[in-house]
Amino acid sequence: MAVNRSNKSIFQILRKPLLVVRKTIYKGEKVRCNICGNNFSRFLSHKLPYRRNARCPYCHSLEADRVLWFFLSNEILGKKNKKRFLYIEPHASILDKLEQAHIHTDTVKRNTFTNKLLLTKKEKNTGGIYDVIIFSHQLQYIGNEDVVLAELKRLLRTGGTILLQTIVNPNMDRAYENIETAEDRDRLKNFYQPGIKSIYGINLSKQLTKAGFKVEVIDFAQQLGESAIEYYCLGSSYREIIYKCKKP
Ligand SMILES: [Zn+2]
Repeated sequence: MAVNRSNKSIFQILRKPLLVVRKTIYKGEKVRCNICGNNFSRFLSHKLPYRRNARCPYCHSLEADRVLWFFLSNEILGKKNKKRFLYIEPHASILDKLEQAHIHTDTVKRNTFTNKLLLTKKEKNTGGIYDVIIFSHQLQYIGNEDVVLAELKRLLRTGGTILLQTIVNPNMDRAYENIETAEDRDRLKNFYQPGIKSIYGINLSKQLTKAGFKVEVIDFAQQLGESAIEYYCLGSSYREIIYKCKKP
């Protein structure tokens, strides 16, 4: 019997045919993913918290990813002095698009970034080098906001920008931290997902300003309009708001 000598797992080998099957199952024109450019009858549901029409069957983008890509492609790419990006825990399809746009993008996994927070000043890489840092849906898993924001600021050049997305409950003034008990999870059921430490409130922009950034709170889905929100399934503004944080 022939031995498969490639290092690919069975999942990796089956991935492409599975995606082709999914494209056929969800064939249709009702919704469109602006990242992979495919149309479907509907998006997949997301389990925790439950949301209909959330995940692209082909590239697995969620609502916040699609808003992020609209914002990057419409407002950031092509502008002067936006040459060097850092993308923390990147979404594979958005990373592909950045590469196609010839953007120099360094990447780091969330755990590596978090471990590096513990290094001394001398042990850390040179700072002041990035024009744009994409930090999408990571803060809620790390917590420790003051330290995280100080490190992101150190990595940015002066005038550089962080694009931050996280989970925000507009009905809470402040962050709900240390989500540990079943009661916490029940109270936050429209926002909670496994592994997170915090859900943020409307004072997040103040917190970012206090960390030394010039902050713009951008609901880009609303700017694109209701028909775009429906066609591209751009969410409900709980996860999609972009906090554009400029290092002055
Ligand atoms: Zn897609």
